[in-house]
Amino acid sequence: MKTISTPVVVIGAGPVGLTAAIDLAWRGVDVVVVESRYAGEPPPVKCNHVSSRSMEIMRRLGLAPAIRAAGLPQDYPNDIVFCTTVTGIEFGRIQIPSVAGRTAPPSPDFPDSDWPTPEPPHRINQLFLEPILFEHAAKQPRIRMLNRFVLESITQSVDAVTAYVRNLDSSEVFEIQANYAIGCDGARSVVRRNIGAKFEGLAEITRNLSSFIRAPQLLGMIEKKRKPSWMSQAINPRRAGNAIAIDGKDLWLIHCRVKAHETDFSMIDRDRAIRDVLGVDDAFQYDLLGKEDWIARRLVADRMRNGRIFLCGDSAHIWIPVAGYGMNCGIADAVDLTWMLAGVINGWAPPSILDAFERERHPITEQVSHFVADLGVQLVRKRNEPPAGIEDAGERGDAVRDRFGREMIEMNVAQYCCAGLNFGYYYDKSPLIVYDGETQPPYSMGTFKPSTVPGCRLPHAWLPDGRSIYDLLGQDYTLIRFDQTLDVSGLEEEARASGFPLQLVDATDAAGTYDFPLLFVRPDQHIAWRGHTVPADAAGMIARLRGGWQGAGSGNINEAHSAA
Ligand SMILES: Cc1cc2nc3c(=O)[nH]c(=O)nc-3n(C[C@H](O)[C@H](O)[C@H](O)COP(=O)(O)OP(=O)(O)OC[C@H]3O[C@@H](n4cnc5c(N)ncnc54)[C@H](O)[C@@H]3O)c2cc1C
Repeated sequence: MKTISTPVVVIGAGPVGLTAAIDLAWRGVDVVVVESRYAGEPPPVKCNHVSSRSMEIMRRLGLAPAIRAAGLPQDYPNDIVFCTTVTGIEFGRIQIPSVAGRTAPPSPDFPDSDWPTPEPPHRINQLFLEPILFEHAAKQPRIRMLNRFVLESITQSVDAVTAYVRNLDSSEVFEIQANYAIGCDGARSVVRRNIGAKFEGLAEITRNLSSFIRAPQLLGMIEKKRKPSWMSQAINPRRAGNAIAIDGKDLWLIHCRVKAHETDFSMIDRDRAIRDVLGVDDAFQYDLLGKEDWIARRLVADRMRNGRIFLCGDSAHIWIPVAGYGMNCGIADAVDLTWMLAGVINGWAPPSILDAFERERHPITEQVSHFVADLGVQLVRKRNEPPAGIEDAGERGDAVRDRFGREMIEMNVAQYCCAGLNFGYYYDKSPLIVYDGETQPPYSMGTFKPSTVPGCRLPHAWLPDGRSIYDLLGQDYTLIRFDQTLDVSGLEEEARASGFPLQLVDATDAAGTYDFPLLFVRPDQHIAWRGHTVPADAAGMIARLRGGWQGAGSGNINEAHSAA
């Protein structure tokens, strides 16, 4: 049997696996990626929303401009419209700026236009996103892509992981020897089963009959009635559903809600369901390009790690795509893990740093799954019970639609403008963070409060020269100093002497934005520590931040300073 050796093997080259591999390579780590699809084989057409937080990560990796340039045409409205049918009467609209429209000043009419970020969300289908990630990954000398290879099983010893993969063309089985493995192999993950992790939660919330279609007439028909939108949510007594614009021209994804008595997808007349959602007669022509039926669930793995093997993305969690956050949460898993793995492989962190991954990500994953599933259950109920008279002509119908439209906007704005999911989450029980007694601000799906409390994402600020503060951050840990009179040389010397990767950045221009003159920012842009002066126990703090928490830093580092 042929053997391939690598520090890290990533199983699955979906958006999460590709991001993990790219981030590891960027941090100087060699990676082998195992993927059963052909190189360039298109993914399913399901995912359409790249969150602001994911775009911030893509910015760091140099990929944000290419991603933002792809997807819908730059001036195509990203709005969400509520309507009787896709070509019927509009009764509500959540306005989201197009890419070009993002240059306009923030406005209350566009609820996500004033977000504190250099990278607003981006609506792009997975069909266009994945090739950008794949082509970038394939160009990295540190990444070896094994397309048409399927993982059959994975085992581990105290020292190493062994993945058995089969070449789908030759049937030859290879052995991959790695220090660590990341299972990014999606909902049916072989890795999850092999490490004994189990999905727990709600096996079914609702079903959707989904069809990828080419319909060149549709956009013109919509434009005769109203301004187009990225998503059109159709609600009528025949069939609720929605249409998502994929290329802003003739490609559409049509989700048709399955009714309670339709216990099997095969019971539904797909063509009738599509026409009922679109509001078109039998003369309307379209080509069915693919069937993408799915069951909405809320399932979270009971563990995200076993020894040297980790789970990220759909292998660890799947849920109803309310807020469009499955991939985005998976990308957040990946970049929480990759810098820790790089720390171990590059020699500046002990393996104990890796204990933080599950402690940080599992609670967030559980929390997001409840945010989206709770709202999902309410939305399903609401859409399945359209008010009487919703399609009536005249003033009576207008009054019904007006009221229902306002309710729909109110119920939905948080999921389409999910500031809390993007920026509100924090790590509150991490062994790698030096907490100081202040509690992180609570957040909801739609709201959050920027905060420097350790564990939170570094609040964003624009600098006077037009740069984002994120662009100043180093690849590893960064100490941001907003007051240059503060002496931080003790900390720098300690970092240098102990081989801890620390970059000092002076940002006096942004001092007014932050409540502490010193912020220690992790490689993933979360705050690890903050202070007014460097801690007296600099060695203890560095030991904690690099993951040597079992042996060091068990006391309160800030208290050590005040006592000094
Ligand atoms: C209708 C719908 C809409 C959605 N919209 C959004 C959205 O707008 N935003 C969002 O964030 N999320 C959305 N999601 C969720 C999103 O699609 C997933 O969370 C995302 O695709 C997960 O990415 P992943 O890389 O973890 O897994 P996947 O995309 O499933 O990728 C897994 C990869 O692993 C490969 N693989 C699997 N098994 C093996 C094996 N044994 N050996 C080798 N390779 C293997 C597969 O071929 C695949 O390429 C949506 C989901 C649905 C159903």
